Amino acid sequence: MRLRVSSGVLVLAVWFGLLTGLLEGVGLLAAQRLGWLEWETLQRGVGPEIVWIACLVDLVLFGSIGFMLLVVSRVFPRLPIMRISVFVFAFMAIADLVALTGRILIYAVVTLATGVAATCLRWVGNNEQAAVRFWRKSVGVVAAGAAVALVGIPGGYWLGERISMARLPAAAPGAPNILVIVVDTLRADHLSSYGYQRATSPNIDRLAQQGVLFENAFSESSWTPPSHATILTGRHPSEHEVEWNKGLDDRYPTIPEVLRTHGYRTAAFTGNSDWFSRRIGFGRGFMHFEDYFYSVTDMFVRTVFGRTVAEWRLVGRMGLSIKPRYQKERRRAPIINRSVLRWIHREPERPFFVFVNYYDVHEPYEPIDRYRRKFAGESQGGDRLRIDAYDGEIGYVDEHVARLVEEVEAQRRAQPLLVIITSDHGESFGDHGFYLHANSLYLNEIHVPLIVRWPGKVPGGGRVDAPVSNAAIPATLMELIGRGEQSVFPGLSLVRLWKQEAPASDRDDILAEIARQPFAPEKLPAYHGWTKSIVTPEWHYMEHEKFGSQLFNWRADRGELHDLSKRPDLQGMIKRFRLHLKRGGTNERAAAAPPN
Ligand SMILES: [Zn+2]
Repeated sequence: MRLRVSSGVLVLAVWFGLLTGLLEGVGLLAAQRLGWLEWETLQRGVGPEIVWIACLVDLVLFGSIGFMLLVVSRVFPRLPIMRISVFVFAFMAIADLVALTGRILIYAVVTLATGVAATCLRWVGNNEQAAVRFWRKSVGVVAAGAAVALVGIPGGYWLGERISMARLPAAAPGAPNILVIVVDTLRADHLSSYGYQRATSPNIDRLAQQGVLFENAFSESSWTPPSHATILTGRHPSEHEVEWNKGLDDRYPTIPEVLRTHGYRTAAFTGNSDWFSRRIGFGRGFMHFEDYFYSVTDMFVRTVFGRTVAEWRLVGRMGLSIKPRYQKERRRAPIINRSVLRWIHREPERPFFVFVNYYDVHEPYEPIDRYRRKFAGESQGGDRLRIDAYDGEIGYVDEHVARLVEEVEAQRRAQPLLVIITSDHGESFGDHGFYLHANSLYLNEIHVPLIVRWPGKVPGGGRVDAPVSNAAIPATLMELIGRGEQSVFPGLSLVRLWKQEAPASDRDDILAEIARQPFAPEKLPAYHGWTKSIVTPEWHYMEHEKFGSQLFNWRADRGELHDLSKRPDLQGMIKRFRLHLKRGGTNERAAAAPPN
């Protein structure tokens, strides 16, 4: 009898645990798709892998509770342990599924789960024999469902990549491997090669000397999603329209899509899984995309139970908090490098296109000890402390950028390697009264590094002064691999700038844009409306939806402290800028029909 009770409780634990996991996984995917998730929860994105991960987490959780209930039943043998188990498991299952969107208050979750569990208990009380029979009979089906998820989802990805590989056309002989590195949140003027007084970037500086460095490169937004969409499509934010409430759709081709048609294997590896991820539509064209689930902790915090523990909604009130440890959890550069090298290694003959987003420089700035000490003490107090830590992170990522390039070259010794290094936006350290980014479009938030290195093909030691946008990366890549004629990307390649073939007047617009960010703090301009800007060789014109325009001579006034928008002699030019922004840039671009 006792054995029967024990196995009955465990069957219940497995049945409820796995079924909750399956429903939770599918529910999270559906809620993410339908936009039902609460803002913080939404950013903790998920891919299909969440189905088997939630199954495992819930199996362990429900199983542990099952064992505890058995221990209790040994100590108090008279307790109706089956009924208690039914109530506890039903409560946990309902609470898990109701809490899924993150929108329902904990009290409501508890009340609802208690009510449903009590109803469930009453029903079982009247039909105990039948209920137990049902659970014993169907536990196999539930377990089979979980097993299908566990094997089928990773297997599906593996198979999908094999099929894409088999379908790739032959690559041209001598096609270079391509590595595009985005160091998220890296402002150009904090690199030594861009004139910073600290030696933050000896390695990137060396790579720059082996290629061409663009002294005045700009990102087309001051935050991650629109800027990455521009880098991958060559389109302005006003064209692709990617923002916090809209992902990348399939109107415009991306670099990996096009490179696949030229025989390239394609993969992306991201440290910024909140905003450069499959959830935002960036998976398109990549045969392999690593965003979520890189570690056991990362898997755990994306399940409902894991996230509750991480955010400590439940136990935080008891004065315990493990939040900081989870917050620090991020995919650091060496972890990304390991994944990249492993993936490259699988197919030694095919040329590859790898897109990397390093997140180490992004706040919270918490460099490892060696780099925390590197610049500490040189400056005093407040903002300077932040800057010391930020610079320390640059030193750290600088080391790992160089390691990746060296190790890829060591692995593919006989093959040419084309490397592009840039960033998606800068950062504010009190500049104009702001911190972090996505506040405005002042230069410190959009001036980014841009380095193109391909020994033998791109001259070493080149420096280009002309302002450029990193929207030119797709067109430039196409020209460099000898497919410039077939390029479907807009804009002019940057090759002509280091070859000095371009007339001064012949240049693309450098436009930047950030939409209204309703979740931003109220004191920031981004909370109150959109900002758009245009950079010309001399001027930076910026327009806010509510606060009007500003104009800076950025060459003479790098800090943008002197707004010239009221100067009578400049009003004609300002009018032209305004009209130009309204039209969304150059006429050629505006008139060009999007490819289908
Ligand atoms: Zn970013």
